[in-house]
Amino acid sequence: MDEKIVDYADYGVHIPLKCKNHPDKRWSTKNILYIGARTLFYNLHRHKEMGPECDCSISDLISLTAKEAKAEEQDYE
Ligand SMILES: [Zn+2]
Repeated sequence: MDEKIVDYADYGVHIPLKCKNHPDKRWSTKNILYIGARTLFYNLHRHKEMGPECDCSISDLISLTAKEAKAEEQDYE
């Protein structure tokens, strides 16, 4: 079995992440192994209102829930 970060998305596709201290900021990464195993992209869709990247630890990044990701999925096709 290929290990994934979230079960709701296919292996290797981009999934959205947020910072648990800054829940309005978004990163994305491939759905492979664990957060940090592949490159993290900050604000991939260049939302002006998101502001600069925070300096929290990578361990503070968490994946969006399936419901949250669904609500934002037009941004992450
Ligand atoms: Zn943060």
